[in-house]
Order: sequence, then C-alpha cells, then structure tokens
Amino acid sequence: MSTTSETLIPQPICPRCHSGFVRRSRRTGLVDHLISSFSIYPFRCQLCKHRFHRIRKGLTFKRIDEDRREYERLPVNLTTTFTIGTVRGQGGVKDISMAGCSLGTETYLEVGDILHIELQLPNQTDPVDIEAAILRSAYSNHARIEFLRFESGNRERLQHYIRELISDAPSRKA
Ligand SMILES: [Zn+2]
Repeated sequence: MSTTSETLIPQPICPRCHSGFVRRSRRTGLVDHLISSFSIYPFRCQLCKHRFHRIRKGLTFKRIDEDRREYERLPVNLTTTFTIGTVRGQGGVKDISMAGCSLGTETYLEVGDILHIELQLPNQTDPVDIEAAILRSAYSNHARIEFLRFESGNRERLQHYIRELISDAPSRKA
C-alpha cells in the first residue's frame, strides 16, 4: 500500500489546514516537471485536498516511487445506502479517502452514474450525506466512487472521521 522510500522522508505540513497527512502528488504538466529538477515537488493534502509545492532538497524522487493514487485509501468497514434516480440500494465500503470510496453492492450500476450516498459512520446517528458522487469504474459488484459534492457540513464530518482513522492507527506507514 505504501512505497518504500517515502516512509523515510519527513512529510511536509499542509499550509492550509496544518495536517501532516499529505502525500506526494503526481507531477502534471510542464511546470511540475520543470521545477522538479530544482527539487520542488507537488504534494496533496489528504484532508482538505489542497495541492502545494515544497522543496525536497537532497532527495531524489524516482518515477517509480510516484504512486498512481493521489489519495491514500484507508481501510474501513462501513455500510451505506444510496439512491440513483428512483432506485435505492445498499452497499459496503471497504476503503475511503476524502476523494472517494469503494462500493460493494448488488445493485446494478454503470460507469458515469451519479449517486446520492448516505454513509453510516461508526457511533454516529446521522449518516454523512454525500449529495453527489460519480461511479468511476466497476468490476462485477465492486465499484469505485468519486465524491463530487457534500451536503453542508458533511465534508467536515468526513474529514473529522478520517483524521480519527489516522490517529487511531499509529502503526500506519506514511
Ligand atoms: Zn490540508
């Protein structure tokens, strides 16, 4: 799940929300590639999704170390209900990030479907309400979901939950 070399490197702090839960971001476009030759690399905050650049002097990131995933998926075991049009379905979520989640369901779904998702968090009465999420890929009855829009206040609730997930897992590799 994690790469070898990055565990040794102190991660920068997000300048927007001060979270230490950041991840190397893929270099995109000419500027990212040019400045990486000056040891300036892009990072992505895993909580507030802010993207920023930091100098990593003396460190050489090799292409092979660049994880294809922009967001780390944290293993969870959550239940969810969702609606798509007039269809109502249920499913299980096995991993999650601020960007999206997995969804295992018996309901027939297609790539591009827009779902309204209610995600049941442990020890919470009200589910987290994701107003719009898009189905990015599907294999048999397992789908990848990207969150597009949260009901007011619900993004913050998910951030809080993910923050707890990180702090509850001290053995988690960076
Ligand atoms: Zn942040």
